[in-house]
Amino acid sequence: MTDSVSATPTHCPYCALQCGMNLVAAGGGGGVEVAERADFPVNRGALCGKGRTAADVLAPGARLATPLVRSGGALVPAGWDEALDVVAGRLARVRDEHGADAVGVFGGGGLTNEKAYALGKFARVVLGTSQIDYNGRFCMSSAAAAGTAAFGLDRGLPFPLADVPLTGCVILVGSNPAETMPPALRYFAELKANGGSLVVIDPRRTRTAELADLHLAPRPGTDLALALGMLHLVVAEGLVDEEYVERRTSGWPAARASAMAHWPEYVERITGVSVPELREAVRLFCAPESAMVLTARGPEQQAKGTDTVGAWINLCLATGRAGRPRSGYGCLTGQGNGQGGREHGQKADQLPGYRKLTDPAARRHVAEVWGVDPDALPGPGRSAYELLDALGRDVRSLLVMGSNPVVSAPRAAHVEERLRSLDFLAVCDVVLSETAALADVVLPVTQWAEETGTTTNLEGRVLLRRRALDPPAGVRSDLDVLHGLAARLGVEKGFPADPEEVFEELRRASAGGPADYSGISYRRLAEGDGVFWPCPGTGDEGGPGTPRLFLDRFATEDGRARFAPVAHRPSAEEPDAEYPLLLTTGRVVAQYQSGAQTRRVAELNAAAPGPFVQLHPRLAARLGAAEGDPLAVVSRRGRAVAPARITTGIRPDTVFMPFHWPGEGRANTLTNPALDPTSRMPEFKVCAVRVEVARGDAP
Ligand code: SF4
Repeated sequence: MTDSVSATPTHCPYCALQCGMNLVAAGGGGGVEVAERADFPVNRGALCGKGRTAADVLAPGARLATPLVRSGGALVPAGWDEALDVVAGRLARVRDEHGADAVGVFGGGGLTNEKAYALGKFARVVLGTSQIDYNGRFCMSSAAAAGTAAFGLDRGLPFPLADVPLTGCVILVGSNPAETMPPALRYFAELKANGGSLVVIDPRRTRTAELADLHLAPRPGTDLALALGMLHLVVAEGLVDEEYVERRTSGWPAARASAMAHWPEYVERITGVSVPELREAVRLFCAPESAMVLTARGPEQQAKGTDTVGAWINLCLATGRAGRPRSGYGCLTGQGNGQGGREHGQKADQLPGYRKLTDPAARRHVAEVWGVDPDALPGPGRSAYELLDALGRDVRSLLVMGSNPVVSAPRAAHVEERLRSLDFLAVCDVVLSETAALADVVLPVTQWAEETGTTTNLEGRVLLRRRALDPPAGVRSDLDVLHGLAARLGVEKGFPADPEEVFEELRRASAGGPADYSGISYRRLAEGDGVFWPCPGTGDEGGPGTPRLFLDRFATEDGRARFAPVAHRPSAEEPDAEYPLLLTTGRVVAQYQSGAQTRRVAELNAAAPGPFVQLHPRLAARLGAAEGDPLAVVSRRGRAVAPARITTGIRPDTVFMPFHWPGEGRANTLTNPALDPTSRMPEFKVCAVRVEVARGDAP
């Protein structure tokens, strides 16, 4: 431990719930272990297995402890000066020979706000490249786009989780918190205990769906039609809140017309959800005075994800369930700093404070904070998949920070091939991930418990993660890496390694922007349970923050929420004779994202040792497959093999694979990179496949 305090209060390194935890000394070896922290209101001491075992990845042996430089085909240990010299020299050479946009930067939704901010500034000020994006594009960008279009502002939840038990009904669309963030389940249990109801929409009967009063299992990729069918019934049954629609919204006639074209019987044919089930969902949603819709990756990770989320927002608006107490639409963000990571400039089209890179006033404001000419700032670059797809062609070198696209990107074999074709690849990571293993230089960086920084949880609550122990010798922080690289590339000032100094600059850069952090200081964060943005102010004199948004007006120019004129359309890839089934992908409780950290934790590996293919008994019988048989799942992009897991909790026309593993069971070998036209989110959640028993393959 860094001081004599017996416990350091901090937050989990994994998902967007950002559970509070204490780090306490473990044994006599100078290490730490996780202990309960009951005073943090979001999780009140509860942790899932990932959080409980998070300290295991801090241990020597689980992680990298020295820079590695490729020599003679192998990664060999090197000193920091040598490694940073190589990275700076190779990035500069590519920039000089091919132009600034030949240098790419790929960030991550797990990076702290300070790192996300510094990485965006590094790309635009030091490298001068427009080619920066991050893996959060794969996470919730469709919800962000739909929320911005409807409300004028994207904050995952516009209310604290504590409001969930106080509402009358929650519709959870494509979300499985029982596996992704188990401590959040108590909010839904309390909702039910208070007399509210829970509707879960998911092609699988997940552990979350088992808690529901009503579970609807639509065919993957059809929840847009499902939302339109519900809105049709709302209109037909006279349940529209006409006064609210008139006073607080715009665009209703077009949205209404589209909904009226989606007859319940037509929707039943598209989705497989029966008309009585649809009516029951409408009844549960409309009967109480208040209700919420919460979406997650299911509706969002589609080539029509923005429209799908827009359709669910339409349902909220037509029934007067947004911008009112205990009612609203929200997105359950996934990655640890998925919210803050999308606010401070590592997105291809964005400047800090959730400002638009194309907005001249935003460019002037941020350029002044950065001490550069606004005209010198590059314009928007490629989105995450488009950037990965351009590697080795237009983009010839890449700096990766906190991401493992070899496992987590769609069409992963192609992405891996693109990474291999680069002139130069540098990766900053805590472990030798599958992406780091391909790099020319690997820079070992500090982890959550070894560094101070802020994250913003799924509620928009800015939190302070405190440094609890010293990092191993040989490891530096990401901020230190950017400081060292900037200096080598001729920018001596503006990239401090001290996180509080970076945060102070971030406050100024975000001031006046949609995500305004200017009134938030480390001192304020250290004293409370976090501060909800927007929070304008200066010094330690910031306002109280904004736990609940939109109660008086929406953040659009006229203060009205905007309906989205959306209609059902098929997925980018529908089943056919060659690929007759649908694949959907997702998560299991014991692994996190690409598994780079959690696959190194013995307890988690024992609980979830590898991928599997979940399928219905009727499909298994048709294939002649028994439990545990190796199944080959084949799509137009490749083939993956994993053992069969047979359950009635999935539609017979659909198979499911978790995506946490590399190798022959890698689910993302199969997934479709078809992009949503607005959010540029790939269609992870649905693609056409065929399935065969592969008894010759060892899964
Ligand atoms: Fe960590 Fe999320 Fe688990 Fe909480 S629910 S302990 S934040 S992984």
